[in-house]
Amino acid sequence: MVTSSRPPQRSRSQWLLSLLLFCGLVLLSFFFLLNPQRDKEKQFANASEVPLSEITQGYAQNAYNEILIRDSKVFATLKDGKTIQSYKEGSDTVSRLGWNDPKNKTVVRVENRETTNLFLSVLPDLVFFLLVLGGIVWLFRGIARSQSTALSFGKSRARIADAKQVKTRFHDVAGAEEAKEDLVEVVDFLKNPKKYTSIGAKIPKGVLLVGAPGTGKTLLARAVAGEAGVPFFSIAGSEFVEMFVGVGASRVRDLFTKAKRNAPCIIFIDEIDAVGRQRGGAGFGGGHDEREQTLNQILTEMDGFEQETNVIVMAATNRPDVLDIALLRPGRFDRRIFIDKPDLAARHQILEVHARNKKMTKNVHFDDVAKQTVGMTGADLENIMNESAIFAAKRKHPAVTQRDLVDAVEKVAIGAEKKSRKLTPHEKDITAYHELGHAIVGHLCPDSDPLHKISIVSRGSTLGVTWFLPQEDQYTTSKSKFIDEICGLLGGRAAEELVFNEITTGASNDIERASLIARNMAMRYGMGDDSLGLVAYGEHQGSTFLGVDPSVVRNYSDEMARAIDTFVRETIAAQYERAKSFLHQHKKKLEELASINTRRSSRSSRASSSRRRR
Ligand code: ADP
Ligand code: MG
Ligand code: ZN
Repeated sequence: MVTSSRPPQRSRSQWLLSLLLFCGLVLLSFFFLLNPQRDKEKQFANASEVPLSEITQGYAQNAYNEILIRDSKVFATLKDGKTIQSYKEGSDTVSRLGWNDPKNKTVVRVENRETTNLFLSVLPDLVFFLLVLGGIVWLFRGIARSQSTALSFGKSRARIADAKQVKTRFHDVAGAEEAKEDLVEVVDFLKNPKKYTSIGAKIPKGVLLVGAPGTGKTLLARAVAGEAGVPFFSIAGSEFVEMFVGVGASRVRDLFTKAKRNAPCIIFIDEIDAVGRQRGGAGFGGGHDEREQTLNQILTEMDGFEQETNVIVMAATNRPDVLDIALLRPGRFDRRIFIDKPDLAARHQILEVHARNKKMTKNVHFDDVAKQTVGMTGADLENIMNESAIFAAKRKHPAVTQRDLVDAVEKVAIGAEKKSRKLTPHEKDITAYHELGHAIVGHLCPDSDPLHKISIVSRGSTLGVTWFLPQEDQYTTSKSKFIDEICGLLGGRAAEELVFNEITTGASNDIERASLIARNMAMRYGMGDDSLGLVAYGEHQGSTFLGVDPSVVRNYSDEMARAIDTFVRETIAAQYERAKSFLHQHKKKLEELASINTRRSSRSSRASSSRRRR
C-alpha cells in the first residue's frame, strides 16, 4: 500500500524508534560494564609496578608461574600468587626479551587485544555511532516528510492498492447478478484488451455504478480490481475539493498520470456526484468554480486516454440525476450499471456471506430474516449480522443463535430497546390498545400486508410497534393497497378513541404518513377522484430517483389545490370511519388481546415493512 502524502501511523513508529534507541543504549552500557576484559584487568588491579628488567630477571630465575603480555602491559604471577606488572615497548617481542627459552618452564601468554580483538573492541563504538547516525537520519526524514505534506496539496490523495492487496472477489458480493455480469466484461477488458482491440472494438473508459447507498457499489468496484488483478486507485469525489482553489484539477492530473504509469489499472472515484454535478450552478446558490474545474479536468483526462492505455475509470454515485450530462456522454461514463436493492434471494445470500466470518450455531437459518428485511441494503444486512454477533457476545453465547439474530433484526429495523423509559400504567394501556388497533384493522383489511409482530416495548422514539411484513418484494402498489394502508394507519387512533374516548399525540406519525399516501395518490399516481383526473400535480425538481425527496414546485391552480386537499381529507375521513367500524365489530377481541398485554405488561414483546408507530 502506497500512501502518497499521509504519513502512516507516524507517532507509532516514532515511539518504536525511541524505544529501540533507548534499548540500544542500555545494552551498550551493559556491554561496557560486563566487559570480560575489564574483569581480568581487575584481577591485576593491585599489581605493583616493577621495571621490565626485573621481570626478565625473574624469568631467568624461574620465579613466575605465568607471564601475561597484554598489549604494552606485562603481568607476571609469582609462585605465591602475587602479581607484578611492567610496561614494554611495541618492538619488545617475546624473543627479543629472551622469554622464549625452551628450557624455561614459565608459561608466557600473549594476549594481543589490539590485533585479535580489534573488531570486538570497536564494536561498541560502532554500534553507538550507527545509532546516533540512524537517529539523525530519521529525524531529518521526519522533518522532510512533514514539509512535503505541507507542500503536496496538488498531489492526488488516491490510495493505491496493489494487485495483490485487493482481496475482494465477486463471490464476496452476493446477489447483484446483472451488475456482476456487466462487470465480468470489464474484468475481461482489463485482462485481455487485445481480444477486443484486434477486431477494432474500443474499450470503454468509464463505468458508472449507480445504486442506493449501501447496495455494494464500492464493494463491487473492489471486486473488479481483485478479479482483474490490477492496481486499484481509489479516491472519493470530495477529496478533490479542498480549501485551496485549483487543487482539485491538479489532483486529477496527478491521479491520471500515476494511473497511466501503472496501466492496466482501475481508477475508482467514489461518490462522484461531489464533483460531477451539473455545471452552471443553477440551483445550488451559484456556480462552484473549483468543482467545475475539477470536473473539466476529469473530462479532459478521460478524453486524453490513448486507445492503448488500458485504464478504466469506475465511479459510483447514488445521485445520477444530478450528474453533469457531459460525464454521461459516450466515450466517458457511457456504461451505467444499476445496482438494485437486494431481493429475497439476494438478501439470503448476503446474510450468508456475512455469516462466513462469524461463529454461527449450526441450526441458524436466514429464511425469516431475509423475509423480514424487505427494502434493506447489503450494508443494513451486514449491520444486522454484526449486531447479532454483538448480542451473542454480550449474552456469552459461544456462537450466534437464532434468538440473537432475531433481536438484531428488530434492533436494526425498529431501534434499540429503551429500558430506561418508564411509562405509567395508563400510558402502557393506551399504547397496547393503539398498537392492537393497527393490528386488528390491518388484519381485517384485505390488501394489507400480513401482520408479523406487535410490540409495546419502547424503542428509539416509538412506544410501540405493529409490524406488517410483505410476503414478497413488491415493485408496484395498487390503489386498494394504498387505501388499506391508510385504514391500518388510522387504526391506532381509532382504538384510542373507541376505548378511552380520548385521544393522544401518539398518532401524529400515523396521521402524517396517512396524509402523505393520500396526497401522493392524488398528485402523483392519478388515483384521485374525477375532478382531479389523470393529471400529475406539482413539478418535481430533480428526479425521485432512489428515494431522494425532490422539492415540488406548485404548477396548478388554487382550484386544483382545493380539490387535492378535499380528496385527501375525504379519503382519510372515510378510512377513519372504516377503521372505527372494524374495531367496533371486534371490540371483544380487542379487549381480550389488550388484557394479555396488561397481564404480562412487564416486558411483553409478542406478535409485532410497513411499520406503524405510535
Ligand atoms: P455503497 O458504496 O454502495 O454505499 P458499499 O459497497 O460501501 O456500499 O457497501 C457497504 C457494505 O455493505 C459492504 O462493505 C459490504 O459488507 C456490505 N454489502 C453491500 N452489498 C453487499 C452484497 N451484495 N454482498 C455482500 N455484502 C454487501
Ligand atoms: Mg460507497
Ligand atoms: Zn400508531
